[in-house]
Amino acid sequence: MASYTGGLLRKNKNKLREQNLELEQSRADLKLAAETLEKKNIQLQTAVEKTTESDRLKSEFLANMSHEFRTPLNHIIGFTEIISDKKLGDLNAKQVEYLSNVLQSGQHLLSLVNDILDLSKVESGTLKLELSKLNLRRLLENSLTMIKQKAIKHGITLSIESDGAPETIRADERKLKQIMYNLLSNAVKFTPDGGSITLSTKVISDFEFRHPESMGEEKPSEIKISVADTGIGIRKEDLELIFKPFEQVESSASRKYQGTGLGLSLTRKLIELHGGRIWAESEGEGKGSVFNFIIPAELSWSLHLSL
Ligand code: ADP
Repeated sequence: MASYTGGLLRKNKNKLREQNLELEQSRADLKLAAETLEKKNIQLQTAVEKTTESDRLKSEFLANMSHEFRTPLNHIIGFTEIISDKKLGDLNAKQVEYLSNVLQSGQHLLSLVNDILDLSKVESGTLKLELSKLNLRRLLENSLTMIKQKAIKHGITLSIESDGAPETIRADERKLKQIMYNLLSNAVKFTPDGGSITLSTKVISDFEFRHPESMGEEKPSEIKISVADTGIGIRKEDLELIFKPFEQVESSASRKYQGTGLGLSLTRKLIELHGGRIWAESEGEGKGSVFNFIIPAELSWSLHLSL
C-alpha cells in the first residue's frame, strides 16, 4: 500500500514537474509574443506618424501649389475680360466666342484651384475658425441674393422659412457664407426652370431657450439650416458619395451641369470645423433634394420676438 502511494506520489510529482516545464515554456512563449507585439506596436506607431506627416506635407504642398496657380490664372482671366469687353478694340463673332471659352475655362480652373486650396488648408489644420456674433437672418437673405439673378432667369422661386430662428448666432461668418453659397448654387444649378428653393432654419432642443427668462441671453445650442429644392434629386446610394472629393454623380440628368466636384466635400469640412454635421436627403431621381446641416451656435433672441 505504502509503495503504491509512493508510486502515485512520484508519478504526480513527475507530472507536476512536466506541467511546470510546460508552464515555464508557455511563459517564455508569452513573453516572446508580448515582445513581438511591443515591437509591432512601435512599428505601427512609426508608420502612423509617417503617414500623418506625409499627409500634412501633401496638404502643405497642395496649398502652396494652388496659391502659385492663382496669380497667373487671375492674369489670364483679367486680361481676357479686358479684351472680351472690347476695351482694346472691336472683335469679330469668332473672337468673342473663343475668348468666352478661354474665360469659362479659366474661371473653372480658378474655382478648382480655390477649392483645392481651401480643402488642403482644412486638412493640414491651417484653416482656423474666426468666430463672431452675426445676424443670421441677414446672412441668409444675403446668400439668397447671390443666386437671385440666376433664379429669376430660370423662373425659380426662392423663399425663407424660419421656425423660431434666433436673431444672432456665433459662427465664422465668411465660412458660413461659403457653405450657404455652395449649397444654394448647387440647388439653383440642379433645379429645372420653374422650380423652387426653400431655405429653412430650426433651433434644436430649444425648449429652455424659448423660456421668457432666457430671452435676450446667450446660450449654447444648435441650429439646423436646410436647403430644399425641387430639382433632379439624388439616388439613395449616392447620398453619401457626393460628399467625397471629385465625386459627381454619373447620371444623364446631372452630366450636363458644370462643376468641380469639390464643393460638397469642402462644405462638409467647413461644417465639421464648426463642430457640426451635414447630410443629404432625397426621395430619388427627379424628386428634389434637401441638404441639412447642424452647427452648434450661441443663439440669442432679442426681447421683442414673440413667443
Ligand atoms: P459640383 O457641384 O461642383 O459638381 P459638389 O461637390 O458641389 O460638386 O456636388 C457633387 C455632386 O453632388 C454634384 O455633381 C451632383 O451630382 C450632386 N449634387 C449636389 N447638389 C445637388 C442638388 N441640389 N441636387 C442634385 N444633385 C446634387
